[in-house]
Amino acid sequence: MKTYANLKDLQLSLFNGSLSCTSRVNNFLANIDKKKHLNVFLDVYEKEAKEKALQVDSKIKNGTAGKLAGLVVGLKDVLSYENHPLQACSKILKGYVCQYTATAVQRLLDQDAIIIGRQNCDEFAMGSSNENSAFGPVLNDIDNTRVAGGSSGGSAVAVMADLCDISIGSDTGGSVRQPAAFCGVIGLKPTYSRISRYGLIAYGSSFDCIGIFSKNIYDAAIVLETMSGQDEYDSTVSTQPVPAYSSELNSSANKKYRVAYMRDTLESDALQPEIKESIYKKIDQLKSSGHSVEAIDFPLNEYVLPTYYILATAEASSNLSRFDGVRYGHRSAVAHDFTSLYKKTRSEGFGKEVQRRIMLGTFVLSARYYDAYYTKAQKVRRLIRDGIKVIFANHDFIILPTTPTTAFKLGEHANNPIEMYLADLYSVQANVAGVPGISIPCGKDAKGLPIGIQIMADDFEELKLFQFSEIIQNLE
Ligand code: GLN
Repeated sequence: MKTYANLKDLQLSLFNGSLSCTSRVNNFLANIDKKKHLNVFLDVYEKEAKEKALQVDSKIKNGTAGKLAGLVVGLKDVLSYENHPLQACSKILKGYVCQYTATAVQRLLDQDAIIIGRQNCDEFAMGSSNENSAFGPVLNDIDNTRVAGGSSGGSAVAVMADLCDISIGSDTGGSVRQPAAFCGVIGLKPTYSRISRYGLIAYGSSFDCIGIFSKNIYDAAIVLETMSGQDEYDSTVSTQPVPAYSSELNSSANKKYRVAYMRDTLESDALQPEIKESIYKKIDQLKSSGHSVEAIDFPLNEYVLPTYYILATAEASSNLSRFDGVRYGHRSAVAHDFTSLYKKTRSEGFGKEVQRRIMLGTFVLSARYYDAYYTKAQKVRRLIRDGIKVIFANHDFIILPTTPTTAFKLGEHANNPIEMYLADLYSVQANVAGVPGISIPCGKDAKGLPIGIQIMADDFEELKLFQFSEIIQNLE
């Protein structure tokens, strides 16, 4: 299949008739079949995708096609799509079929994107390796003995292995950026509240963001502008106007930026030396092309991960209480009264990591420990956000690694949850502060495994973030 620079380039061929959506969908379907062993898709919507491709092909001919015409999209198994199954990769939602479509997904459909299937992830988006899925792990396409990252592992590998153009995932603590880094693709987490969460299965509601995997910045930009903005079904979504990110991408190509990097993240012993080298190399290239880059200290960094894991588990324990055997999916067959229905359904339906998070969250919210953990973590979260805002008062961007290591081996951290949580060491900052972050590919380590560089920007500065990402990608 010919590769295209981006959707704009692809649409040139679609609109001049040298290429059809139908042939592209057929190609992706063939790739999906060839790469079945990666365990990316839970369901492939073959018939529908072909039908939609035919429809879009004729809309292109008669001049009524939407702006995403031709874009083939995969959905992480946490996004509602009417009349399609949805499980959050959990046994507890076995048999559940969506009754409505998520706002973000509907907006893609309205612009003629073609949805090709539902993608594997960690159960309820909890995890950093995709090993917590009830459907088994996703394999990294570069080395099948390694993880894809998580929790949106299937979505990252789908873009990496050419199984679709774009994947839509969710990022609560790094679940788009971390697997993007492990798979050598772009992963964007927008500002909290930029995109409506209506139809996204809730994990930690004050952190959850719908995010985008792509191979180029333009595609991420046009998909973000399509999905973002006000929505009467989500009272927390921002009412800030949505810029035309994709058409304004090149509007500041020569601008020189003020960039900060967090010294401790790059000097940490936890960081794989090759990642440190690649990021310092980018920093040097930025400096020699005229940007100001300054090392800063952010002493609160050591509190970011614990703050995240206290608050995210607290919110998860509350959000997941709705899965009780009464309303959705699985119901225990051996329950004999009301209480045992709850207990048995939840013990049978939830996997070990989800159970651990519910226990942790329930503990930090319990009357005795509420102030010591939950209230304290809320206060620390505010300090962290305020601290990050101070940095943005003087800088346009903060650079840090996306992950402490490149993709690790399947099973390597499976028995040690703390080690697994440390995979999020650098991705949780953006979620705790609520600001946007992007991971873009930044070379490879000695084993040929992709490295990601992460850039954070101030609230609602996605346009600047995209523009700067283009600059970083073109540096030599
Ligand atoms: N790995 C992190 C967690 O397990 C982040 C997950 C996510 O962003 N959904 O909580």
